[in-house]
Amino acid sequence: MANQYIDLDTLKFLLYDVQDLQTVLEQSRYQDYDQESIALFLDSVKEFSDRELFPFFREMDDQPAHFKDGEIIVHPQVNEYMKKGGEMGLVSALFDYEIGGMQLPNTVVTASAYIQETANNHMPGYLGLTLGAAELIVHFGSKEINETFVPKMLAGAWNGTMCLTEPQAGSSLSDIVTSAVPAEDGYKISGQKIFISGGDFKGVENVVHLVLARIKGAPAGTKGISLFVVPKKRPSTDGNLTSNDVTTFADFEKMGQKGYCTTHLFFGHNDDCRGWLVGEPNQGLKYMFLMMNGARIAVGRGAAAITMAAYQASLAYARERPQGRSLTNTGKKDVAQEQTLIINHPDVKRMLLLQKAVAEGSLSLVLLSSKYHDLSQTHSDPEERKRYSQLLELLTPIAKTYPSEMGLLSVSNGLQVLGGYGFCTDFILQQYYRDIRIFSIYEGTTGIQSLDLLGRKITMNNGKALQLLSAEIMKSIIEASEFEALAAYGEKLGATLKLTQDVLQFLMEFAKKGEYERFLSDATVFMEFFGNMIVGWLWLDIATTAQKALLVGETKFSSEFYHSKIHTMKFYYKYEIPKTKALAEVLMDKQALTMAEDQKVFT
Ligand SMILES: Cc1cc2nc3c(=O)[nH]c(=O)nc-3n(C[C@H](O)[C@H](O)[C@H](O)COP(=O)(O)OP(=O)(O)OC[C@H]3O[C@@H](n4cnc5c(N)ncnc54)[C@H](O)[C@@H]3O)c2cc1C
Repeated sequence: MANQYIDLDTLKFLLYDVQDLQTVLEQSRYQDYDQESIALFLDSVKEFSDRELFPFFREMDDQPAHFKDGEIIVHPQVNEYMKKGGEMGLVSALFDYEIGGMQLPNTVVTASAYIQETANNHMPGYLGLTLGAAELIVHFGSKEINETFVPKMLAGAWNGTMCLTEPQAGSSLSDIVTSAVPAEDGYKISGQKIFISGGDFKGVENVVHLVLARIKGAPAGTKGISLFVVPKKRPSTDGNLTSNDVTTFADFEKMGQKGYCTTHLFFGHNDDCRGWLVGEPNQGLKYMFLMMNGARIAVGRGAAAITMAAYQASLAYARERPQGRSLTNTGKKDVAQEQTLIINHPDVKRMLLLQKAVAEGSLSLVLLSSKYHDLSQTHSDPEERKRYSQLLELLTPIAKTYPSEMGLLSVSNGLQVLGGYGFCTDFILQQYYRDIRIFSIYEGTTGIQSLDLLGRKITMNNGKALQLLSAEIMKSIIEASEFEALAAYGEKLGATLKLTQDVLQFLMEFAKKGEYERFLSDATVFMEFFGNMIVGWLWLDIATTAQKALLVGETKFSSEFYHSKIHTMKFYYKYEIPKTKALAEVLMDKQALTMAEDQKVFT
């Protein structure tokens, strides 16, 4: 059953032509790959997703993961998917050849995961978290820990998780209390973790938890947090697995992504749970954050995939649903005429174009971030690596937030396209709407991402990252100015970039005076403003690439395809970019209506 809710042409256009994958493939680490071998790999992922993911998407919503008789029951396909995905190299794709990896670029792995997530967003998380947990061990773990856990994880035989959250420590990880006491054979771990994705389920051979905990006597706050490998079952030298006292208390029942279990775990209920330190003591949060760029881009990617799938589903519906008649020039309906398809109504076209603009803009954003990720690690010039690393740091909170927040709005518009049927379970839109809602909460809420963007990323190294990003945006404006049809849009983007400087100048005054709460009180509004501009920049690049292809008579895609990209860019600049002016007005308003002392407004 083929997943029809993906636009592979757009994925390939954005990957190869707009984000120019070639610049990544030219790095020596990827010398074994070219565009053709990557295309073959992505085609095989599509075929795998059509077979192993898409047919189970609705079933997983209808038969949610649930807690029964002390264990979590998930759809049986989860174990199949992990096994077959492992065999196909989907967990190991990023890793070095020496440890059995495929040494593929991050950008390609992003495209591969995106294809899977458009097919079924409930399942790829099991595999993605295993990859993330293995990455932490490979980067920071000892040889022994690596040899014990990584091969099984890369093969898809053992699952991996990230255990950060505790009942009293969600956004604020400085309040973690899970403890680790040195023992003869590692550390005794004790504490509970909540909301752990893929934390345990029937049929899984072992689960390797990457747990943040405090070694007894460690400093308070984030400086005293260490990272441990804590398996559900302890492997012994003879290959046997014995219980490691990790108890599953419950599975959280959710409004969406119901097939993806979310567990409540207790470590050391019987005082017999062992963990092994990863890297140095008290460096746990630092290690986690070094891996966070990848995890956050992955969240943005998942939201972008759902946005695309929902867009394709509502587009297909709008092309088939007759309703009403087109208005005549006199403004009167001619009921003698046949009903028109709803796609012919301007308001339905507006909703579809918004979906297209957000879906494809978000995809371009996550691909660009992944490219920066690759080049920050593999570029032959160390100065360039540093430059890409700063660009990546700045872009990451936006790559996580824009697809999550705007994706939700976009899917809501998609549901609206279906009218009453959009609200009914016979149609898929309501599932996408429920599924995408978690993405602005995963891996740090929008509020937390916004504090990171304005409070840390914009200001780091005296604003160096912003300078570098502005230079990239200026390059795009200059390129667009060479085409008569695009120059005006470049000017609009230039004006929005200038507005960003005005906004930041206004806000920085508070930071300079030490009024940090005021400086950051509208950080989320700033995120909306800045994210809107960034995606406007990406749309200008998409349109420039399409315009160039039309000029040279490129035939990789049809001329309608290229024209549709330019049309969507124009839509974005008519309907989305002007919102930045209103947001700038909010940001530069002198009143501070949301400061803590104003709690009495709720009386
Ligand atoms: C389905 C699901 C899966 C998850 N998977 C995992 C997982 O695998 N591993 C894991 O460790 N965790 C996981 N989480 C936890 C997730 O990361 C947290 O829920 C999230 O970070 C928010 O923490 P919280 O729920 O405690 O909310 P809180 O931290 O209580 O936040 C509540 C609200 O207050 C705001 N807020 C909090 N602090 C501030 C601040 N300083 N300034 C401004 N606003 C603030 C937040 O933005 C939010 O709107 C998962 C959660 C869910 C729901």
